[in-house]
Amino acid sequence: MIQNKTGGNAPRSAPELRQQTKLVRGGLTRSGFEETSEAMFLTSGYVYPSPEEAEAAFKGDLARYQYSRYANPTVSMFEERLRLLEGAEVCQATASGMSAVFASLMCQLKAGDRVVASRALFGSCHYIIAELLPRYGIETTLVDGTDLAAWKAALAKPTRCVFVETPSNPMLEIIDLAAVAELAHAAGACLIVDNVFATPVLQRPLRFGADVVVYSATKHIDGQGRTLGGAILCSAAFMKNHLQGFLRHTGPSLSPFNAWVLVKGLETLSLRVERHCSNALALAQFLEGRPGVRRVVYPGLDSHPQADLARRQMQGSGTIVTIEVESGVEGGKARAFRLLNALSLIDISNNLGDSKSLATHPATTTHQRLPAEERAALGITDGMIRFSIGLEDIEDLKDDLARAIEV
Ligand SMILES: *Cc1c(COP(=O)(O)O)cnc(C)c1O
Repeated sequence: MIQNKTGGNAPRSAPELRQQTKLVRGGLTRSGFEETSEAMFLTSGYVYPSPEEAEAAFKGDLARYQYSRYANPTVSMFEERLRLLEGAEVCQATASGMSAVFASLMCQLKAGDRVVASRALFGSCHYIIAELLPRYGIETTLVDGTDLAAWKAALAKPTRCVFVETPSNPMLEIIDLAAVAELAHAAGACLIVDNVFATPVLQRPLRFGADVVVYSATKHIDGQGRTLGGAILCSAAFMKNHLQGFLRHTGPSLSPFNAWVLVKGLETLSLRVERHCSNALALAQFLEGRPGVRRVVYPGLDSHPQADLARRQMQGSGTIVTIEVESGVEGGKARAFRLLNALSLIDISNNLGDSKSLATHPATTTHQRLPAEERAALGITDGMIRFSIGLEDIEDLKDDLARAIEV
């Protein structure tokens, strides 16, 4: 992190601080005005006191701000705070989660390389891996993320990148990160984990052997549905050898305004995630076995097929609950739509990780683009509804759902 002219004043040395303190104070660099709150530096460029200093900066002899496509003080504060939370060597912010995903792959791939990924992916990640990369001569293979034998078979050949998302969207499948990391490394691959559904509070992929962690900060890190943003966490060597040049010259930079919203979001992240999780667990328990509900998928329920793995790998069960309604004579889609239309509190939205509870019908929205057979292979039926559980009073959420299910 580049310090300001007065040397900056980041609080004490970071390693002694505990997680919640890092979330509130990590990366804070005050300007000469000694402001309490993080300052927003809305500037694209920076001035040099002399041509000698400009020359030294461009030669790489002097670390200082040069241009906000490369770095910006507000963006640096967000990066440093998230880096401390994740325990990574380097954090690089991006304009959106998808620019983080794309850059983490594209900065290291070339024609002739091979990528193996779990099949249950966020829609745009699926597009990049299954449709875009093959256009550039990159071979991609999708596997059932929960099947270690399938990973073993797919990684029997040399592979450049392995990309996984756990828990997955919307079926909340859990992938064994330590086991996949071992297989990926044996195949010579770099393991990239999309950790959005777990949030940086509930799961630390680097501890299980991941090489790169990517986030959509749009989701829980903002947490209040305001801005887009993303981040890539990795080693200093990965940054130097792959990422830095790619990002500087292609320009998916995070705006300082969005970085300011996100750095303030981090201050309350663990408090919010704790409440999201307790509300989600309470709702999952409330809905499981209820007439009209065929199935409830939540990693914190004993009925989840990877409940034990989720307990080992995550420090909480997540903020998303997926249900399948009884389809009855009218069919799954009509029944799911009837429930969605009957909600009076929970909003219909394709977004997630907001303080407001949101409901999505994946088959007709986020996963509409997939052929029906592929949706079926992922277990996404027409009766499935994904709930992103917010921070409202749990009793109001239960009332809303109980009423809507009975309509
Ligand atoms: C939202 C999301 C993304 C994309 O992030 P954007 O900020 O919308 O670009 C990627 N992966 C997962 C799992 C997501 O939920």
